[in-house]
Amino acid sequence: MKSMEKIVSLCKRRGFLFQSSEIYGGIQGFWDYGPLGVELKRNVKEAWWQDMIAGHNELVAPNDAPGTFEMVGLDCTIIMHPQVWKCSGHFDLFHDHMVDCRESKKRYRFDQIRGRWVEYQDKKIFVATMAEQEQEFDEVRRRGMKYFKLRSKDAEKLSVEDLSITIDKLDDTTQVLAPDAKTLDTLTEPREYNLMFKTTVGALGGEDDYTFLRPETAQGIFVNFKNVLDSSRVSLPFGIGQIGKSFRNEITPRNFTFRSREFEQMEIEFFCPPDQSHAWYGYWRDRRLAWYKSLGLSDESLIMREHHKDELAHYSVGTADIEYAFPFLPEGEYGELEGIAHRGDFDLRSHMEGKLDPKTEPMTVELGENGKPKYRGSGKDLSYRDEATNEKYVPHVIEPSAGADRGVLAFLCEAYTEDEAPDENGNMQTRVVMKLHPRLAPIKAAIFPLVKKDGMPEVAQAIYGTLKKQFNVFYDEKGAVGRRYRRQDEAGTPFCITVDTQTMTDQTVTIRDRDTLEQSRVKIDDLTEVLTRRINV
Ligand code: ATP
Repeated sequence: MKSMEKIVSLCKRRGFLFQSSEIYGGIQGFWDYGPLGVELKRNVKEAWWQDMIAGHNELVAPNDAPGTFEMVGLDCTIIMHPQVWKCSGHFDLFHDHMVDCRESKKRYRFDQIRGRWVEYQDKKIFVATMAEQEQEFDEVRRRGMKYFKLRSKDAEKLSVEDLSITIDKLDDTTQVLAPDAKTLDTLTEPREYNLMFKTTVGALGGEDDYTFLRPETAQGIFVNFKNVLDSSRVSLPFGIGQIGKSFRNEITPRNFTFRSREFEQMEIEFFCPPDQSHAWYGYWRDRRLAWYKSLGLSDESLIMREHHKDELAHYSVGTADIEYAFPFLPEGEYGELEGIAHRGDFDLRSHMEGKLDPKTEPMTVELGENGKPKYRGSGKDLSYRDEATNEKYVPHVIEPSAGADRGVLAFLCEAYTEDEAPDENGNMQTRVVMKLHPRLAPIKAAIFPLVKKDGMPEVAQAIYGTLKKQFNVFYDEKGAVGRRYRRQDEAGTPFCITVDTQTMTDQTVTIRDRDTLEQSRVKIDDLTEVLTRRINV
């Protein structure tokens, strides 16, 4: 059975993920990638970059695309001019709702406190908790029993509802037992809380010297739109992609790396003529979903959630989230992997004219109390002139915005499998295997001499030396071969290459497939070609 507990423990044990600053007790919302994790994350980012940017052929329209298009990349700074965040809207609007507990003095994100109604002798209270999904029911029962001062022998007298909901769905919070409280009704009204990390630039550190760590990479792309246009001869439609760190001071980071305070994003801003934006929105939505599937996420665990019309800004044709059934969520719930948003011309115009008021139609610059623009734009012309028609307009934008860490987590969750495989004595044993797509697997192949004698290590080491030039391969000669296979299964290594007695006579080795356990013989000279083919399926 797949469970978050098992996945988290494997990640630590095998060096996929560690808590940041662990020897000092850790720091909430920050995670480090270990030796296997860093390879996996690099492979996820590399696959994205290759499939979306570097490997894109602008001469041929991909299947289902409205036409041909160009793709280029960018790498912008994390710290930018503070005006960027004022015009983008993040300074005023990038907040979540938090609630404080008057009793415990703890602070929570309003929409993340879950709980259930519990009832004892006609008295009903809502027991709230921040416990992980797997422990939630037991935790609610335990705290319900404590609240009503029940002993374990009276457990039957307390009824706990099956339905678990977040407290923002309740009409009022007067009957809520807050996650760390002993009495009811201790939560304050929800208040706004800006998620950007503030930081100071330069040695003076006055009020004028502060800015923010970027909460998304997208704005770096918008403010460089003209630079890219002027320097690279791209013409519309085209996309600019960027991979980089983003920071959000999340109120309650949780669920492993899903909600971190420092994370990486892989974002595309796709610029197109306004009258084509509908078609391009549909294209990117479907293409991004297909990308996750091509790397192994199953149909059953992925959904595309289109936002309702009333959730959208009026200038937007649509927004869709690609969501994954993470094991820390209750059955039937999904967590966002990526958002694909039609953003109209909101961003480019805001950086040009000053922050637009998204509630106006047509959109006009938001004014301050003095009747002047609340946040002045750059005043630079960010419109586009179509050379064929000589028409000038501000392009519309489609934004597929993915989280690299959430992607990695979804691939890890999907990959975790327990099955049965024979041990060296032929007895069936439970085996833990990370069925990562070969493109994403941290180690592509492990090379073993069957035994540590008869010239086998020398042959295996020579193969290792040759393959290492192209692939991240691993050499291991210690212990029984069955145990070596198991270690590689847990690391997600798709192929194990073994040098045995027959190798010494006919220059062939066995290749064992991690998922099917099939072994086939391959000539040493063909290994590079065979691996290349089998990795890029
Ligand atoms: P959520 O509603 O889960 O907070 P969001 O809608 O605010 O996410 P976006 O602003 O659309 O997220 O960010 C784009 C992508 O960046 C998300 O789909 C997600 O993959 C990633 N992301 C956002 N916040 C975090 C975070 N705190 N930790 C890890 N990844 C994140």
